[in-house]
Amino acid sequence: MGKLLIHQNLVNEEIAEKLINLCPFGSIEYKDGNLDINAGCKMCRLCVKKGPNGVIEYIEEEAPKVNKKAYKGIAVYVDHSEGKIHPVTYELIGKAKELAAKVCYPVYCIFLGYQILESAEKLLHYGVDKVFIYDYRELEHFRIEPYTAAFEDFINNIKPSIILVGATTIGRSLAPRVAARFRTGLTADCTRLDIKENSDLIQIRPAFGGNIMAQIITPNSRPQIATVRYKIMSATTPTKDPEGEIIVCSMDTSKFESDVNVIKVTKKEPEENISESEIIVVAGRGIKTKKDMSLAYELAEVLGGNFAGTRPMVEAGWIDAKKQIGLSGRTVKPKLIITLGISGAVQFTAGMQSADYIFAINKDPKAAIFTVAHYGIIGDIYEIVPKLIKNIKNAKGLIGEIPKYMAPASMN
Ligand SMILES: Cc1cc2nc3c(=O)[nH]c(=O)nc-3n(C[C@H](O)[C@H](O)[C@H](O)COP(=O)(O)OP(=O)(O)OC[C@H]3O[C@@H](n4cnc5c(N)ncnc54)[C@H](O)[C@@H]3O)c2cc1C
Repeated sequence: MGKLLIHQNLVNEEIAEKLINLCPFGSIEYKDGNLDINAGCKMCRLCVKKGPNGVIEYIEEEAPKVNKKAYKGIAVYVDHSEGKIHPVTYELIGKAKELAAKVCYPVYCIFLGYQILESAEKLLHYGVDKVFIYDYRELEHFRIEPYTAAFEDFINNIKPSIILVGATTIGRSLAPRVAARFRTGLTADCTRLDIKENSDLIQIRPAFGGNIMAQIITPNSRPQIATVRYKIMSATTPTKDPEGEIIVCSMDTSKFESDVNVIKVTKKEPEENISESEIIVVAGRGIKTKKDMSLAYELAEVLGGNFAGTRPMVEAGWIDAKKQIGLSGRTVKPKLIITLGISGAVQFTAGMQSADYIFAINKDPKAAIFTVAHYGIIGDIYEIVPKLIKNIKNAKGLIGEIPKYMAPASMN
């Protein structure tokens, strides 16, 4: 951390011009008659290294020290719609319990909404120590200002060391706002989480287009905030008897002021979500024509599963974008996933490697997909898949001529 200081006494017209032209972000400019660095500065420090000697100086600033001992516990944000809890919450509770056990921390939930007591009680079956609820009419619908205000109140009073938020539409909106309010770090879309003895959360996620797995820590501020996509972590199993307690929090409701007024809520038609499928057949570039996609559709159908694709298949317009698996698509965790002609690029496997069983078919024995697959067949999908379909049909007693499964109407 640091800042750039311009020694104005060394600046003349020629030097100013050089510096203005040197900055790749156009961040050096004249302001009120002085040379200035604007908010577009990316701290690349090219002006210090390549600019006229000594005119711009980089001053290192010591990071403020945080009293880590003042923060304790791992809090999970309860993602919900009208009190119906999103299953990512149970996955995050599972992870929170695992991390908390390593540093002897309690596990909390923070639940914001209206008339949510009954839903909150369900959480006590998942082994959390305390569920903090903010039950206010102003929190009935997700609105960013009141939700942030309640979250802020919770952090100020409870001081959790770590906050885990589901990377849902609401979570992706709320977590950065809360992080900014506390000037703390937020790591989005973590794929793995661990904890150091000193309570620093190790947040692991793909970076630089998925080519490296970055380990990110937030050593100088608290709380530490991470978002995790649905189906990345394993959900904890509920117990019969509830444990822990519900704490109903109260706060100054004037803080719920919002510029957003919810006039009407229109429910979206429920749509198919591949993340919920237990069996998925995924088509990759090994499939040569759009017509041949029937291989994937038919295999999915005989298995009673769903079908999906890699990004190139979506880009080719052969499959709907909602069915793309991977870093820039959906994350899935089915019982069985079968990949057809897929190389196994990290950007793809990042979205499916937690599946219970991965079964890959690829003609290249060196294909990376075989490093994550539990079972594999080296061979041509055009020979193997029809046989597979036939055998499954035989086993299921569906013997006879193999009817060609038609592509869904939307894909024709
Ligand atoms: C920032 C970023 C994000 C990305 N996000 C995603 C993402 O979310 N999802 C995603 O999928 N990709 C993503 N990608 C693209 C990714 O890097 C790969 O390019 C892509 O996954 C490759 O798809 P594929 O395996 O279908 O094709 P290919 O890599 O071309 O592999 C085709 C495979 O088919 C095999 N094959 C060919 N013919 C046959 C046959 N007849 N029988 C059997 N095997 C055969 C080949 O041996 C080969 O291994 C992303 C890339 C970037 C840079």
